Amino acid sequence: MSSVSDSAWERAPLNWPAVILFSLTTLGMLTVFPWYAWTHDFSTAAWVWFVVFMYGTGMSITGGYHRLWAHRAYQAHWSLKIVYMLLGAMSLQNSILIWASMHRIHHKEVDHRDRDPYSAERGLWFSHMGWMLRNYPSSALDYKNARDLMEDPIVMFQHKHYLGIALFMNIAVPALLGWAYGDVGGFLMLVGLLRLVLSQHFTFFINSLAHYWGRQPYTTENSARDNDVLALFTYGEGYHNYHHIFQWDYRNGIRWWQWDPTKWMIAGAARIGLAYNLKRVPEFVIRRQMVQRQLERAQEQLAKAQPEAQPGRLAALQTLLEQELKHYAEIASEWAKLQQEKLEAAKRQLAEQWENSEARARIRALEDSLHQQHRRLRLLSLQAAQAAA
Ligand SMILES: [Zn+2]
Ligand SMILES: [Zn+2]
Repeated sequence: MSSVSDSAWERAPLNWPAVILFSLTTLGMLTVFPWYAWTHDFSTAAWVWFVVFMYGTGMSITGGYHRLWAHRAYQAHWSLKIVYMLLGAMSLQNSILIWASMHRIHHKEVDHRDRDPYSAERGLWFSHMGWMLRNYPSSALDYKNARDLMEDPIVMFQHKHYLGIALFMNIAVPALLGWAYGDVGGFLMLVGLLRLVLSQHFTFFINSLAHYWGRQPYTTENSARDNDVLALFTYGEGYHNYHHIFQWDYRNGIRWWQWDPTKWMIAGAARIGLAYNLKRVPEFVIRRQMVQRQLERAQEQLAKAQPEAQPGRLAALQTLLEQELKHYAEIASEWAKLQQEKLEAAKRQLAEQWENSEARARIRALEDSLHQQHRRLRLLSLQAAQAAA
């Protein structure tokens, strides 16, 4: 694109703390770690604590930094926030304030070459970790978009003492635990080094691979993808197409079978009173978005079809699509009507009664209609793709 701004980007100064950190940890993984593993036996305790801290630090980023602080998808008790704050610092991904402020820009400016701090437009490497190695213009922050976080004493405490907390959590904690189990070296290698490097790359996948690899069932307006395989590594954040369109939902994998341990952790915390006000997008709105996308896709595929090849078949598919569009419009207007009724009930302070009335059943019926339509459109899309081939 603009070569002038690109040359300014290429001249961006190196971000030395990040360069040194990544060089040291990568070098350590390639030299000291294999040597240690070859010459020593790791204790079972070191492996167990490695798994505990893999999940603890990873989910403090996904459940704490990301869903709680950056998106305010729920609220948390101070004790849970302290755990997130400490284990989040252990992940060495900067302070909550910096991380969340930057992430809010990522959502607002997603894919913008110059404004999205980890823009997928600049390639897989840049979005994975290249963006951290230089002080690029897109990483400049003024916290204007994070005023709410500046009022959170836990966030500000961590921001002020970040380096000390991060060093303590990464070196002292594994060493002390290792001392307690009689395996200081093993704990430093597994809970310190291996855990740090793996959990960093797993969470970096959300900015890189989750913007490249997978399906787009909700929108093609940005590069974010849904990917079940990636969800396994990213503590449930592989459902990134969903996340970019409904960012304030505390869930990323919305179906029960979708692997989202961060969602289960938050729901579990809510059960014992450590999390509350969990936000969810209404099922109807989710299904409506999926059907809308399918209608677009079917239209795109039919537009590509060759009319001279099978004129009769194409005309039939077009008629089907028109019927589906009409049906969709009816469902959408019925939903709008229900929302209006809900609003009026709220005005008359009858919202609770309204929720319990047959309105609920009507919403269920609309959700079912969308579900059926989703199935029919999948078939239609398939046939349209064949006609286009
Ligand atoms: Zn993203
Ligand atoms: Zn996000």
